Amino acid sequence: MRRPLVVGNWKLNGTRASTRRLLSEIVAGLKSDVTSEAAVCVPFVFISQVAEQLADTGLLWGSQNVADQDHGAFTGEISALMLKEFGCRFAIIGHSERRHIYGESNVLVVERFKQAITNDLHPILCVGETLEEREKDDTFNVIEKQLSPVMEIAGVESFVNAVIAYEPVWAIGTGRAASTEQAQQVHAYIRKIIAGFNKSIAENLRILYGGSVTAENATALFSMADIDGGLIGGASLNAQSFLEIINSVK
Ligand code: PEP
Repeated sequence: MRRPLVVGNWKLNGTRASTRRLLSEIVAGLKSDVTSEAAVCVPFVFISQVAEQLADTGLLWGSQNVADQDHGAFTGEISALMLKEFGCRFAIIGHSERRHIYGESNVLVVERFKQAITNDLHPILCVGETLEEREKDDTFNVIEKQLSPVMEIAGVESFVNAVIAYEPVWAIGTGRAASTEQAQQVHAYIRKIIAGFNKSIAENLRILYGGSVTAENATALFSMADIDGGLIGGASLNAQSFLEIINSVK
């Protein structure tokens, strides 16, 4: 059985005060009998504060990236070991904003992914096509190109502790979510690729959908057979919407 997972991606947002406020509202509204796991991936500078505030609350936390190296002369990077020291469970890796705005290549993404796995940090590996690629009917190709190097270099076993997030680039922050059928089709394809290497790992792998998930569309998306929860951007910055999304998971 795959335990559903809902993860907030706060991106470049928040202050000390707003972080404290948002987390206390989320924690106060978390139901103890909820079936899903929930987490927030916050800017690096807030991780220490978040670790203190969320200890023993049931809400998990993580980062939005991780260094491709373990230590040394890599100015501006944060290692997986550092993140583990501050209690991170998850690290988002290969988000389309990293790939498209900061030029992170598939090869760099694999190195980051490997660092997370080696240090027992659970990577949330993001994959997804642009609108142009979808319109050219290239979606499956793009997904395969993003997944293959990770499978080849990190190995299928690394997916025992990993999560995949399918995030069509055209759906991120646009208010235009993929339809349930579009999302399910790609999720099933991702699971099929992994199953080609190892059926049981594929069966247990959590595949999240991300891209304009709201309290209104979450129930329908999360009811699809291969959608195991969501990676939530904008709607995770509002406690009530985020809680409704967490509670949409059955
Ligand atoms: C994201 O950035 O991971 C994301 C899914 O954003 P949004 O929910 O705002 O589309």
